Amino acid sequence: MTDKKTILSGSTVTGNLTLGNYIGAINNWKKLQEEYNCFYMVADLHALTVFQDPKELRERGMSFFAQYLALGLDPEKNTIFMQSQVSEHAELAWVLNCFTPMGHLNRMTQFKDKSSNTKNINAGLYSYPVLMAADILLYKADVIPVGEDQKQHLELCRDLVDMFHHRYGETFVMPEPYIGSVGARIMSLQDPTKKMSKSDDNPKNYVSIIDDPKKIQKKIKGAVTDSGEVIKYDEEKPGIANLMTIYSALSGMSYEQIEKEFEGKMYGHLKVGLADLVCDTLKPVHEKYDDLMKNQDYLNDLLKKSALKAKERAGKTLAEVYEKIGLLPRGF
Ligand code: ATP
Ligand code: MG
Repeated sequence: MTDKKTILSGSTVTGNLTLGNYIGAINNWKKLQEEYNCFYMVADLHALTVFQDPKELRERGMSFFAQYLALGLDPEKNTIFMQSQVSEHAELAWVLNCFTPMGHLNRMTQFKDKSSNTKNINAGLYSYPVLMAADILLYKADVIPVGEDQKQHLELCRDLVDMFHHRYGETFVMPEPYIGSVGARIMSLQDPTKKMSKSDDNPKNYVSIIDDPKKIQKKIKGAVTDSGEVIKYDEEKPGIANLMTIYSALSGMSYEQIEKEFEGKMYGHLKVGLADLVCDTLKPVHEKYDDLMKNQDYLNDLLKKSALKAKERAGKTLAEVYEKIGLLPRGF
């Protein structure tokens, strides 16, 4: 056990991890690796709320895991694991489901959004925030890096902690949202007023971490830009602002420095510069990813080790819960 605070985060196994996920989340997770005890999961159980092709789901889960590693998450320093391989997640989710008032779930705006866009409105989609609460509470995570879209779910988790403690006494750690430097929000390449999203149907809207250089060049050069020609950061010009945000995040340069670098140049120059920068950034990632994917035995072994590490902590919490609520001892 360390006295470091604990962080939990993850990404659902849907679509393709994007540059948005990297800049907004994974790059940040990387920086937290030294300071916190981190649990980063590949959230494959969450992916089941939409229909999945079994073969694709399994392959994508492994690919996400390899991408986490290739992007710099360190399995020695922290616990990087596959959610479904730690059965405690599903077990605690059931217990919490039985404590969650329907009224609370009815208020979740993400369910309203998602269920209005699909015919497959299943009970899992509805109670997905309860599984998310289980993910967090199992590790007694102190802080959770959450995007805007997940804030309401963290609030629900906090309500569940209060309700559970009221009835059974102190058991969990109350999770707080992570307040620190968060990565920039990256927008869609074709519609810069909406966020870049990995489950977007149109691949032109995002750069996937594993897109080959040719594709990256094509997508960035085809990005929608605004009227005008001066390269200047301006929120009223979301297309150029987005390209500059990506440039700044990957190069570490400020907007002023970028403006100087491209002074007197056209939008096209910025696109070429950015496409090269993205390709250069992702080149070592692709090399590492390809090596890892060729070595499935290594990945499987690592997943096993990580699952055991995660289970050690999750199992303790779940045993406490079973005891408190009156179930027989767990795990013999
Ligand atoms: P989906 O469309 O399936 O919801 P997503 O791209 O929104 O996919 P999530 O799995 O919901 O990805 O989120 C994983 C992490 O990536 C979260 O921390 C989220 O805040 C972050 N993230 C997702 N999209 C962006 C983006 N465009 N810019 C910055 N951060 C992002
Ligand atoms: Mg999302």
